[in-house]
Amino acid sequence: MKFQIEDVTVYFPYEHIYPEQYEYMVELKRAMDARGHCLLEMPTGTGKTVALLSLITSYSLSRPGDRPLKLLYCTRTVHEMEKTLAELRLLLSHVPPDLRRSLLALGLSSRKNLCSNPTVLSAASRDSVDSACRRLTASWVRAAAAEDPAVPTCSFFEGFDRAASSSNASVLLPPGVYTLQDLRAFGRDKGWCPYFLARQTIRYANIVVYSYQYLLDPKVASIISKEMQRECVVVFDEAHNIDNVCIEALSVSIRRQTLEGATRNLNRMVQEIDRFKATDATRLRTEYNRLVEGLAQRGSLPITDAWLANPALPDDILKEAVPGNIRRAEHFLSVLRRLVQYLKGRLQTENVETEGPVAFVASVNSQAGIDQKMLRFCYDRLHSLMLTLEITDTDEFLHIQTICDFATLIGTYTRGFSIIIEPFDERMPHIPDPVLQLSCHDASLAIKPVFERFQSVVITSGTLSPIDLYPRLLNFNPVISRSFTMSLTRDCICPMVLTRGSDQLPVSTKFDMRSDPGVVRNYGRLLLEMVAAVPDGIVCFFVSYSYMDGIVNSWNEMGILQDVMQHKLVFIETQDVVETTLALDNYRRACDCGRGAVFFSVARYF
Ligand code: SF4
Repeated sequence: MKFQIEDVTVYFPYEHIYPEQYEYMVELKRAMDARGHCLLEMPTGTGKTVALLSLITSYSLSRPGDRPLKLLYCTRTVHEMEKTLAELRLLLSHVPPDLRRSLLALGLSSRKNLCSNPTVLSAASRDSVDSACRRLTASWVRAAAAEDPAVPTCSFFEGFDRAASSSNASVLLPPGVYTLQDLRAFGRDKGWCPYFLARQTIRYANIVVYSYQYLLDPKVASIISKEMQRECVVVFDEAHNIDNVCIEALSVSIRRQTLEGATRNLNRMVQEIDRFKATDATRLRTEYNRLVEGLAQRGSLPITDAWLANPALPDDILKEAVPGNIRRAEHFLSVLRRLVQYLKGRLQTENVETEGPVAFVASVNSQAGIDQKMLRFCYDRLHSLMLTLEITDTDEFLHIQTICDFATLIGTYTRGFSIIIEPFDERMPHIPDPVLQLSCHDASLAIKPVFERFQSVVITSGTLSPIDLYPRLLNFNPVISRSFTMSLTRDCICPMVLTRGSDQLPVSTKFDMRSDPGVVRNYGRLLLEMVAAVPDGIVCFFVSYSYMDGIVNSWNEMGILQDVMQHKLVFIETQDVVETTLALDNYRRACDCGRGAVFFSVARYF
């Protein structure tokens, strides 16, 4: 279908459009005309994604004289990413061929989702896949392989590198829409690495679909998204918990295991330094001289070597030389040892403690002799040292990276953060498991560079209520802020509030009642009756993860869970996004094939 919104010819892939979709597009167009940010709420299931993609694509195609279309579309999960790209493919098939001929759209995800090398892909976690890839592609590994063919490299990367250096990088991927699966297939056919191909191509693509972290987490954003232009339209879809993502991007947790791991990392680095001193002392001297002049220039690093970026936001990073007392590798390691020792001491508390960054930094200074400037440079100094020592198994060094991440944030920010030390996990209050958290409580910090850098940022979701809260939480002024309601032609939702169980005892998730065995049993029986009667899928919400853990355990002990599983498969949401995405995918498959499933999930807003 094709229609006009003022001067824009909108291409829409369906024969019918809901009234709210049309209004949504009108408001979105106003925001784009005003070159400002907007906040749009429209219920799930009303076709928000296709409305967004249609309007933004058509808007740009109606202005051929302007800059080419550039849309950065951020989703929360890989599944949403693939769905968005599938929707986009459908949309573009309804755009006249001469207009869509040169359009390129692709998704970008981690190596774990894109890698083609079977040996690397067999690694268990995302960090191990990243690290296994670096072992084959780091610049020094490739240099050694050039001398000695017995040194293993990745044939997919070598293929990609040859193609990228022999032709214009912008033409490596022909125009079209590429989901992650398409990229993998394309890479396999050509013998090129899909991950590096996608990373290289996002600069030239018209539409890039990737995860929130690629824009919001400074550690990732400054490597992946640093070259995106101001004219890009940025969309955060399903953004109802964008404040949480912002806060998590700048928060760090340190446990005893982190500190023990960091000590092991430091010992290993000392050994590496000794080895280099004996074999290639000039490397350390060259690094020292470079640090005297200023920090290692990230921009000039090979694409495979830039994996650590500063956790502080770009505007807050000082462009100065590294302080003299951490320039020598041994001095820097001794500073980190003192810091780890200090943090170990802080974890030995029996009370919950909270402190502001200023007081914490003063205490580190007086007890460990580390000043604010040294702390601020820890992350970059570590990056430089790991490159100098040619460390490729970065997954082994996550602990020391966490410590330096913490040190840099605490040394950079004096406001918007708290340090909270808790001696016990609330779920097991008798077993000491201390944790020190650097907690960011200002969500606007992480998103500020995005608002400043891009002219139109669209924040949209099925639930953004209360809508006037978000501009305050994220500290921005939307030119449009609207909430749309669903137009229903028939009653399709039947809410029922249940106050009593089948034994007539009251049921509630109120704090003082929720762990009552009678209430737990009644909820379990209710679920059992529902799973026996309702076809396909059921989603069962809990008020928190800890409540869900507790009640699922009790249902297991009461035998209710086993009875539920007679009727449907059970899937559980966890705090790990990757695990949850997998669980959701399998839940959908179980519903689609008729086996039926129940999904236990947590709803934040009750
Ligand atoms: S270069 Fe690409 S294909 Fe090779 S290991 Fe790394 S991610 Fe996998």
